[in-house]
Amino acid sequence: MSLIAPQPGIMDIALYQGGAAHVDGVANVIKLSSNENPLGPSPKAVEAVRNSAAGIHRYPNTDHAPLRAAIGEMTGLNPEQIICGAGSDEIISFLCQAYAGPGDEVLHTEHGFAMYRISALAAGATPVEVRERDRITDVDALLAGCTERTKLVFVANPNNPTGTMICAAEIARLADGLPQQALLVLDGAYAEFVDGYDGGAALIAERDNVVMTRTFSKLYGLGGLRVGWGYGPQPIIDVLNRVRGPFNLSTTALLAAEAAIRDTDYVEHCRAQNSRWRAWLAKALAELGVPSDTSCANFILARFASQTEAEACDAYLQTQGLIVRRVAGYNLPNALRITVGDEIACRRVAAAVAAFKGGTA
Ligand SMILES: *Cc1c(COP(=O)(O)O)cnc(C)c1O
Repeated sequence: MSLIAPQPGIMDIALYQGGAAHVDGVANVIKLSSNENPLGPSPKAVEAVRNSAAGIHRYPNTDHAPLRAAIGEMTGLNPEQIICGAGSDEIISFLCQAYAGPGDEVLHTEHGFAMYRISALAAGATPVEVRERDRITDVDALLAGCTERTKLVFVANPNNPTGTMICAAEIARLADGLPQQALLVLDGAYAEFVDGYDGGAALIAERDNVVMTRTFSKLYGLGGLRVGWGYGPQPIIDVLNRVRGPFNLSTTALLAAEAAIRDTDYVEHCRAQNSRWRAWLAKALAELGVPSDTSCANFILARFASQTEAEACDAYLQTQGLIVRRVAGYNLPNALRITVGDEIACRRVAAAVAAFKGGTA
């Protein structure tokens, strides 16, 4: 028997399942499985990528100062308290690596994002799943789930794949009630889709036990470049910078992200399109007998009568060139998560679900 063995917990990690992108034998496919921006990246980000090409023999800068300054300018946050990562996934990983290890517990909600569990296990810590209430984060359940071993509590607000969110007062109550050794991580991957929501920035200004993560992969349309960031109390950001690799973001990614966040007209346009077609799609599906909770993000969690119906609808949508996401792995076997596409995509989804329902009714 080999004595070469990985650290405990590593082999408990189930590989992350990304959203599918192809259906064999079907043309004109629309991918609505990964909550990407249906309108694509800002043209200014694309130009920044092109302009970066001639300089890629140079190492990128290590402190990300220009991007952090741009984020600071656009959000009003202090750039010193920002850390950039290869997607917010990397920030989640830094947090687990720095704050949780063997014997420690990492809380996440019942239908929470898969990377919390994966990163906790990779750090040797124990992920603990806490129930939600009707697909909404339950602060009382999270507080009850804490022990003296709890080191991190991950809450996505809005949550993926439910699309629901809880209010600032509830988040504050959670932060206030946590045991002293526990850090609350507010995952704001979809924060930009919510009007007037700061992702938890005001809370962070008042407390030393809250961090937030953000991403360029969703509203900003840069999922393929891998850029995310975290914001928190200075001492915590200083810790995370010690586990961060010095060249974790490429020059190309840094320049594209800076261009994307500065292109406020384009960002506004994308946000408005999302609100409009999200409402349209939710209503169209509801009228077909497929309800969803009011979504605060760029996807809808469509609920079906049973797992069998959800899977049959998914299979039918695939034949129509529409790829959505099954979420049985998120304890939601009766549901499908559908990214809000552009007008054409939303109309195609509604027509296909109508045809499916017509065929099975
Ligand atoms: C998409 C997503 C992320 C991560 O995205 P990155 O591409 O790694 O920035 C993080 N959290 C949630 C809840 C997400 O849905």
